[in-house]
Amino acid sequence: MKNKEIFLCAINNILSGTCLEDCHFCTQSVRYHANIERYNYKSIAQIVEEAKQAKSYGALGYCLVTAGKGLDDKKTEFVAKVAVAIKKEIQGIHLIACNGTATLEQLHHLRTHGVDSYNHNLETSERYYSQICTTHTWQERYATCENVKRSGLSLCTGGIFGMGEEEEDRDALLSAIHTLSPDATPLNFFHPNPALPIKTRNISQEESLEIIRKARTLLGENRLVMVAGGRELLFDGYEEMMFDAGANAIVIGNYLTTQGATPNKDREILDSLGYKIATSCESIHQ
Ligand code: SF4
Repeated sequence: MKNKEIFLCAINNILSGTCLEDCHFCTQSVRYHANIERYNYKSIAQIVEEAKQAKSYGALGYCLVTAGKGLDDKKTEFVAKVAVAIKKEIQGIHLIACNGTATLEQLHHLRTHGVDSYNHNLETSERYYSQICTTHTWQERYATCENVKRSGLSLCTGGIFGMGEEEEDRDALLSAIHTLSPDATPLNFFHPNPALPIKTRNISQEESLEIIRKARTLLGENRLVMVAGGRELLFDGYEEMMFDAGANAIVIGNYLTTQGATPNKDREILDSLGYKIATSCESIHQ
């Protein structure tokens, strides 16, 4: 058995596919008519059941995602209610909210209702951002991350690689993430969809491994470096390489609008490689 523990995180898309923004990588934008499931708020009972299921598969982190630019009063209240319901029924789950741009006040509200972390990705470098989104700015994203830090929530921020950016953009993104000192950093690798303006993924497996290595070196040991979207496209059958490069967390189950491996298959892979599955977040969120 290896000493390293792998953290498992699961995502629940609790409001899907209704966003008016134009992020060129995102199937949840209504502008691109991608063939995904679109729905309004799931019921709280359903979300709690799905969280229980994810916990039974070993997920320590549970992320509540809503499509859309950011929080408003209604969304903040809904996510807060979901958090209260999940925390009442499930022990030892680390709740992450991922609901776009957020004010300090909204984040405080989530925190006082049981949310532990907030995920908001910088997505790419400041320089390249206008190539992948024209309806809001990179600076807005950064400001939300700063609000998360001020609110006392733990910060989860990362980005997507392989959207046509240059190597200098990848390095700039990692440096910008580092300035925020996040507890967790999801590294996503672009998953092409014919409906999206970005048509291809310009990143190889070796380049992806280099990003994982750089992220681990920059962010330090007691942090989560998570391989999230695109894992199956780049590392199916090569999981050990990404863990050797420095990753210590993965997303299990489905991503927001794309299918992942089944949680059982992921657990079998981790077992066969001799990794322990983490049972507490304490070493990360101190
Ligand atoms: S703001 Fe979020 S949900 Fe909306 S298009 Fe951009 S990434 Fe997708």
